[in-house]
Amino acid sequence: MYAFTYHRPATARQAASLLARKEDAKLLAGGHTLLPTMKQRLASPGALVDLGSCADLRGIARKGRNLVIGAMATHAEVAASPEVREAIPALAYLAGHIGDPHVRNRGTIGGSVANNDPAADYPAALLALGATVVTNKRKLPAGEFFTGLYETALEEGEIIVKVSFPVASRAGYAKFRNPASRYALVGVFVAKRGGEIAVAVTGAGEGGVFRWPEAEAALRARFAPKSLDGLAHTAKGINSDIHADAEYRAHLIGVMAKQAVAQATGKA
Ligand SMILES: Cc1cc2nc3c(=O)[nH]c(=O)nc-3n(C[C@H](O)[C@H](O)[C@H](O)COP(=O)(O)OP(=O)(O)OC[C@H]3O[C@@H](n4cnc5c(N)ncnc54)[C@H](O)[C@@H]3O)c2cc1C
Repeated sequence: MYAFTYHRPATARQAASLLARKEDAKLLAGGHTLLPTMKQRLASPGALVDLGSCADLRGIARKGRNLVIGAMATHAEVAASPEVREAIPALAYLAGHIGDPHVRNRGTIGGSVANNDPAADYPAALLALGATVVTNKRKLPAGEFFTGLYETALEEGEIIVKVSFPVASRAGYAKFRNPASRYALVGVFVAKRGGEIAVAVTGAGEGGVFRWPEAEAALRARFAPKSLDGLAHTAKGINSDIHADAEYRAHLIGVMAKQAVAQATGKA
């Protein structure tokens, strides 16, 4: 064993002050990534700052044209939320298909987004919907927030407070999941807001989540699954591992994109 101290602040401000004062401190949300990493000794923080009692990091609310989700909202809460189901049903669907019930009851949107696992589901939704990550210091558009594999624009001591999603007129998500972990081998989120179309792909990119401009152009002409007929994603820049090679993943991107559009247009 190695020693660390444990802290349970009541507000995000107290959490930020602890982070600043304690050497090698790390935030703890659902613990689904951090605790296994500590058990494997891949991380050994000197202090854990548990966000579990920070009431100001909780809550899900519709605010005008935006859906605002607190960083400590669990995947199960997002999946079951009447506000999310009404405003962006595809987001509730996505949250309801993360991992298994244990993961959904502990894992949080803030932890998932901060971790930026290349196979995680939420990054695709944030990117396609044009979400904003609100921290205790600033507001970051999703396009600037995700910077690489397990990397984000978050700075030392910065805490995600909430994520704000503009409500899309249509949105859909489809993932081909790893049957063991349920992480995305490939996941595609599509969103239509006015004339704007965004297609974001997770699970496949060597650099993490990315947009697929060719599919967006095809869907701009007509927002229907058929518009993607004959469109294939290149295998260049696509992940290859023991679960799937790059060609297979590239093929899945096209298949999942069509399924996501079918869901968005009520044709699934
Ligand atoms: C078996 C298993 C299956 C899974 N399947 C899926 C899946 O299908 N799809 C999917 O997307 N995910 C999946 N996950 C991941 C899961 O969704 C967790 O949400 C994710 O691991 C991290 O969230 P957490 O709340 O547990 O964060 P933690 O593990 O507590 O923290 C993760 C990292 O984020 C930092 N952090 C946490 N909160 C904040 C914050 N508010 N501000 C700044 N930094 C913060 C922590 O310091 C840490 O570095 C799976 C996990 C497991 C164990």
